[in-house]
Amino acid sequence: MKNAIEENGHEFVTGESLGFGSGSALHSLYCCKQCGFVRRKDGQNKPCKGVVKVELRSKGFAAHSTDHIDSTTT
Ligand SMILES: [Zn+2]
Repeated sequence: MKNAIEENGHEFVTGESLGFGSGSALHSLYCCKQCGFVRRKDGQNKPCKGVVKVELRSKGFAAHSTDHIDSTTT
């Protein structure tokens, strides 16, 4: 079973493979495991920005890094 899709630099894998449970909206979607971008089925996906590093050295960065995923809780 093919599990990863490479597109625009993204490396999309299923939310399931990232650890999202069946109750998550991301469970059956593809997300880039590098930048967290959620793949759109219409193909209008922007190029991958690369790996998002989560660092706490500056306030505000954390909010910025969640642009692409807004329903990952629970
Ligand atoms: Zn990406």
